[in-house]
Amino acid sequence: MFATNAYSLELTRWEQRTESCFTLAVATENLTDPALQEIGLGEGKPFYTVDLPYLWGRLLGKQVIFGSGLVHFSDWREMYSLNVETGPAAEAFSRLENRIRGLHPKLRGVSFTNRWGGPISISEGWIPIFERHPESADALVLGGYSGHGVAQSVYLGAWAAEALLGKRELPKWKSPG
Ligand SMILES: Cc1cc2nc3c(=O)[nH]c(=O)nc-3n(C[C@H](O)[C@H](O)[C@H](O)COP(=O)(O)OP(=O)(O)OC[C@H]3O[C@@H](n4cnc5c(N)ncnc54)[C@H](O)[C@@H]3O)c2cc1C
Repeated sequence: MFATNAYSLELTRWEQRTESCFTLAVATENLTDPALQEIGLGEGKPFYTVDLPYLWGRLLGKQVIFGSGLVHFSDWREMYSLNVETGPAAEAFSRLENRIRGLHPKLRGVSFTNRWGGPISISEGWIPIFERHPESADALVLGGYSGHGVAQSVYLGAWAAEALLGKRELPKWKSPG
């Protein structure tokens, strides 16, 4: 079972099928309750924007975590040498923070306490890959959730266990194209 996602593309044979990217998130300073109410987060509901690149957000106590944007790699190993303080990653963080400050007047002067990110695997048509390994029908490859894998990786991981025990077939997902 290979669930190595954005790494080790030679193992899964996904070099030509997926793109490994680094996606970003930032945390604001603590906001006041009235400010959270005014920007629409008073009920504490996580959200996504409809404009692209999509921006998501959720509360962490009185802080808001916002995420959006990608740093692209030509080889997944570039993840290991990525410096988030300079170059494309630093520029992407600045773009994200400026976008957040433009979302609402209450966010115009907000400061950020944390910046972080991690690898995601973008697949063709954003359709997860859940197949037999091209070199061994006894092995499965699973991943490529294109940034939407928290629930899917758990759900499909349980399905994969059943498939490996011969109790369930693999899905036959078709690309939208
Ligand atoms: C900042 C950020 C925000 C996100 N937000 C959301 C969100 O809001 N909602 C959502 O649904 N998804 C979100 N995601 C995506 C989600 O986290 C991933 O889709 C999910 O974690 C993928 O799970 P996975 O187990 O397939 O892969 P991963 O969690 O990437 O795990 C792959 C594992 O394989 C290991 N590995 C790689 N190569 C080898 C090797 N050769 N040998 C041994 N081990 C190896 C790695 O060390 C890693 O532990 C976000 C991701 C990031 C980075």
